[in-house]
Amino acid sequence: MDRLTGKTALVTGSSRGIGRAIAIRLAREGALVVVHYASNDDAARETVTQVEKEGGRAFAVRAELGVPGDVHELFVGLERGLKERRGETALDILVNNAAVTTSQGTAPEDVTAEQLQQYFAVNAIAPFLIVQRASQNMPDGGRIINISSALTRFAEPGQAAYSMTKGAVEQISLHLAKHLAPRRITVNSVAPGITDNGGPAFDIPEVVEQMAQISAFKRVGQAGDVADVVTFLATDEARWITGSFVDASGGTLLG
Ligand code: NDP
Repeated sequence: MDRLTGKTALVTGSSRGIGRAIAIRLAREGALVVVHYASNDDAARETVTQVEKEGGRAFAVRAELGVPGDVHELFVGLERGLKERRGETALDILVNNAAVTTSQGTAPEDVTAEQLQQYFAVNAIAPFLIVQRASQNMPDGGRIINISSALTRFAEPGQAAYSMTKGAVEQISLHLAKHLAPRRITVNSVAPGITDNGGPAFDIPEVVEQMAQISAFKRVGQAGDVADVVTFLATDEARWITGSFVDASGGTLLG
């Protein structure tokens, strides 16, 4: 388990849920992981603790995305932390995972311009600007993985606003994959289906049972199911995959 020894990785939104599982797995493979989060200090600390318990290395950086100066704040913290630990600021792997939505969604009639602006600011504009900024630190052969959603191909009217932002995320992967290919940097999208992120809905057995029916395997995804796919894309074994949409929804899109 040392496919990422000597590498550094930033996982946005890794204080909880899928992001935490990604951070733990990348660290398990030997990467030094930057655990980014918005405000939940305790949760971010817990991710770092879990990594360290397994003998891995990680540090937390707090930066709310979707507000002025967000990416600058993130990279000030990232570069300071990397410099302290490694003496330089190279970033080999970027996972754009942080995003906002609500599990209950919003009826299309009730979506407001403000909500759209906030969703786009956090879920689409921030990831684009993070890719742009990260590419300054990224050596040749780097990896960028953008977390999308099966909802870009599975209609759910209450999630229209959120899904629009994930459509935009997939466009980042498509176009930037071509742009960064001369540097052997790969850029891919990973699309989870319903995945247990530790939220309250996943504590209610009847709700879980209902959600489970959506996947071909009749269970909800575990954060580790998605994190394993992301980890593979981060390794050298995935060097020939770029600009891809990787369905990590347990067959939800099979209909
Ligand atoms: P969670 O809601 O469990 O965690 C969200 C993470 O993002 C937290 O670390 C949170 O930080 C951070 N975050 C949220 N808003 C901001 C912000 N404005 N600025 C900075 N960080 C922020 O997420 P999930 O694990 O459910 O989802 C992870 C990714 O997977 C997302 O891109 C989501 O769209 C996608 N996805 C999830 C599915 C699911 O069923 N769970 C299905 C399909 C896609 P903090 O702890 O500080 O609040």
